[in-house]
Amino acid sequence: MSALPEPEASVMQRMRSVATLDNARNLALAYVVLHFGCIWLRAIRATGPIGLAKAAYHRVATFVVGLVLRIPANRRRLEREMNKAVLDIESSLMPSTTVPVQRELPAYGRTAPWIEAQLAALEHLGSSKDGENHDGTRVWRDGRCSGAVYHGGDDLSALISSTIARFLVSNPLHPEVFPGVRKMEAEVVAMVLSMFHAPSTAGGATTSGGTESILMACKTMRDWARAERGIKHPEMVIPNSAHVAFDKAGHYFGIKVRRIPVDPMTRKVRIDLVARAITGNTIMLVGSAPNFPDGIIDDIVALGELARRNRIGLHVDCCLGSFLVPFLERAGFVSEPFDFRVDGVTSISCDTHKYGFAPKGTSVVMYRTKALRRYQYFVSEGWVGGVYASPTLAGSRPGALIAGAWATMVRLGIDGYTESCHMIVGAAKKIERIVREEIPELTILGKPLVSVVAISSAGSINIYDVADQMSKRGWHLNALAGDRPAFHIACTRLTVPVVDEFISDLKDSVAQSRQRAAKPGTYATVYGMGTTTPMAPYVIGEMASRFIDTMYKIA
Ligand SMILES: *Cc1c(COP(=O)(O)O)cnc(C)c1O
Repeated sequence: MSALPEPEASVMQRMRSVATLDNARNLALAYVVLHFGCIWLRAIRATGPIGLAKAAYHRVATFVVGLVLRIPANRRRLEREMNKAVLDIESSLMPSTTVPVQRELPAYGRTAPWIEAQLAALEHLGSSKDGENHDGTRVWRDGRCSGAVYHGGDDLSALISSTIARFLVSNPLHPEVFPGVRKMEAEVVAMVLSMFHAPSTAGGATTSGGTESILMACKTMRDWARAERGIKHPEMVIPNSAHVAFDKAGHYFGIKVRRIPVDPMTRKVRIDLVARAITGNTIMLVGSAPNFPDGIIDDIVALGELARRNRIGLHVDCCLGSFLVPFLERAGFVSEPFDFRVDGVTSISCDTHKYGFAPKGTSVVMYRTKALRRYQYFVSEGWVGGVYASPTLAGSRPGALIAGAWATMVRLGIDGYTESCHMIVGAAKKIERIVREEIPELTILGKPLVSVVAISSAGSINIYDVADQMSKRGWHLNALAGDRPAFHIACTRLTVPVVDEFISDLKDSVAQSRQRAAKPGTYATVYGMGTTTPMAPYVIGEMASRFIDTMYKIA
């Protein structure tokens, strides 16, 4: 205000104040140019000119698609096509059944036997339609699923069921009411910390799953960086192969995510590019042990060194590796450094509900120091409902699941997990070896050390056609949309007995795909489209949302 000229100010004064205003304007302009110039320079350095060009293309394409869809005729045509596709989704997600639709609460409560009968029907809903399961067995039972079901055997299931029944109403939000659950929760964390060779300073927490563990680790590092490094515009540098939960964390917590390509041969994140992408705003790096797409363990030692040199965090995502990677050596397999023994690793996520065989809805996030864990907590001193403190996202939490995890881990022990690692990784190794030796049309991505084997085309064959053929034979595999078109199988205890079937079906599928001239199947359509048309991201995104809509449809 003081820079504004008074009405009767002298010419000199006026000139001086105009000059000041000009200066201010120039300064502001210079600041803006410098600020955005820096952002662009950093972006170019981090992403490279090709990456930047791709991003620019993506923006232009999104804009053009927006324009095209403004034309009503185009919009209507696309709507019609998508509605047709939604009907397909609905017929597969909502198979017809005799179980009545329950739109509202029944006026009078049903009897237990009536409910039992409906549950029995619901348990097998959809089984007879799916591939080979005409005998009414549950789809996942026969082991033709990649990942998805981490079954620890029927005896263990019985133990988990009775444990859950015993702690059904418990809630660790009230540790003074449920001291037994508190003890088990602390011990679950301690047992996992010791599996990952955590120092005595370390601490952890249980969460509802891998995604929550990752969300918590990212939020913790964001708050740490803000408090101790003054970083207000946080960024994380993660491999292209890292789990999408990191994007979710970036989305929820306002952290910019920079994805870095993997080496096309080793499938490990390119350390030189990670180093280049680190800026003054970087709060953390990420490595996977192993990653979801091709099951490869990143170079955690090199990432740890980068993290240490830049005084930032390194999170190791061992959600999938969970209770396999820590037991690889003991089970007689080759391993790579992945845990707190590596300098620079500040946090690790490990899913008890994957290869730990604990009930779904349990995972552990660990920090090198308890001081770091503090940044995860939420504490409110002034709430009218009383002082409130909770360690993770949820308020009330299922103590029954924690008890189930505790019982599972204590039941299996080091010997049990070593044996399951031996079986599961052994199955993956067998698939890898036979594909390499006996199916020249196919190739394996990288050198997998754990349970995931990613299979790609060695040349002329369309790998998504092979996936479609496998799907016709009743296999639920994961299609991969990365730099190399591929699909993967994550071996579980259920796949162990059907490895030979997998291999013979794979050989048949390859033979079929070679002579195939018919129209492409679902995998080939959805993933073959990839990024070849600018419309694809829009359509796939919209279809994914409609898929979720369908999940909440009753009839
Ligand atoms: C499964 C998985 C996660 C996320 O776990 P959810 O339990 O599904 O939330 C994270 N990272 C990797 C590598 C995974 O395979």
